[in-house]
Amino acid sequence: MVTPATRSDCAELDKHDPLARMREEFTLPDGVIYLDGNSLGPLPRAASERVRELVDVEWGEGLVRSWNDAGWFDKPRTLGARIAPLVGAQPDEVVVCDSTSINLFKVLSAALRLRPGRSTVVTEAGGFPTDLYIVEGATSSAKGYRRKLLYDGQDLAEVLDDDVAVVVLGHVDYRTGRLRDMARMTDQVHRAGALMIWDVCHSVGALPVRLGDCGVDFAVGCTYKYLNGGPGSPAFAFAARRHQHDARQPLSGWHGHADPFAFSAEYQPAPGISRFLVGTPPVVSYAPLESSLDIWSRVDMGRVRAKSVAMTSLFVTLVEAECAGHGLEIASPLDPEERGSQVSLRHPDGYRIIRALIERGVIGDFRTPDMLRFGFTPLYLRYADVWDAVVRLRDVLESGVWREERFGAPATVT
Ligand SMILES: *Cc1c(COP(=O)(O)O)cnc(C)c1O
Repeated sequence: MVTPATRSDCAELDKHDPLARMREEFTLPDGVIYLDGNSLGPLPRAASERVRELVDVEWGEGLVRSWNDAGWFDKPRTLGARIAPLVGAQPDEVVVCDSTSINLFKVLSAALRLRPGRSTVVTEAGGFPTDLYIVEGATSSAKGYRRKLLYDGQDLAEVLDDDVAVVVLGHVDYRTGRLRDMARMTDQVHRAGALMIWDVCHSVGALPVRLGDCGVDFAVGCTYKYLNGGPGSPAFAFAARRHQHDARQPLSGWHGHADPFAFSAEYQPAPGISRFLVGTPPVVSYAPLESSLDIWSRVDMGRVRAKSVAMTSLFVTLVEAECAGHGLEIASPLDPEERGSQVSLRHPDGYRIIRALIERGVIGDFRTPDMLRFGFTPLYLRYADVWDAVVRLRDVLESGVWREERFGAPATVT
């Protein structure tokens, strides 16, 4: 794509954008340019009605009968099957349940049991904190295990040895947006005799993910970021078919039992992916996700990726041209092939700048100590939005408005 040189070039691109109509599927507040869909996706227009239907009809009228009649009991599996194509999995390899943190604990514990005699779990020092904490918790709650860290800039080969049982990595770095080569690294881990768990929180819905083709063993991801499933919507877990029969996870709750309504005193894991379930699913939280997956079922992920690359590249080019001289540094890879669907900028006063920008209707976010993050979500963003966002960022920088005292006080959630 030739980089548009004016706002009307951007508007022209929007006119010919094959994804342009998808924007109508979302409710977005007037005057807001939403560049934080990598943290919390916006509301699918159909979701409000879907929630109302679930509450008023399925619950209000159906009552307990809806566990069967409205398919509540099977939601983790039916929605898992609908997420499967988005991550390159088979329909019976994914369940939707619990949070990413809990699912990581389950798949990690299962993976460790599949590698008896090995006691090291490798994860990245700069990974999303919950991944680090869960690896620490899982390795310290079972005897003899240890956590080993891969540091930024270090090659995976340096930490792999014949004691490594499992490697846990993020597909896209939540800070910089750096995209990892899933196929190559999974292969590298397998050649060292270990199992590979990918956290795809920042890649699912952002780009094509190919868990099956890459031979991935287990994966986890959330649905409230690029998938637009709503605040706190349930996460998912992937377990390759070849592992399902032997995989045992320690949170052996009744929804993972082979016959939950036998109420037997002995735990017998369900035959397939269902053994990764624990307890009663939060049924209401599945409703917005269903509306969101209705949208995703009509979307070509290749087109999403192409537009995402075009948008992040446009943003980088415009920031370099319009915002030079204000101390901003591009923290994301400049090669779009090595980038997810976000662009991060560094600035020592990043927190104040993002607050001032949000006040001007451009919503991005901040990650300590100095990272401004901007997510580019092709389903509801226009090229003209990218242009306008950079203009407003330039105005914030040139006016110095961010120096005002009110932008300094930290909010609870950044
Ligand atoms: C957002 C995110 C999570 C979130 O975990 P929760 O259990 O949903 O809070 C985990 N890992 C990564 C890499 C994330 O980006």
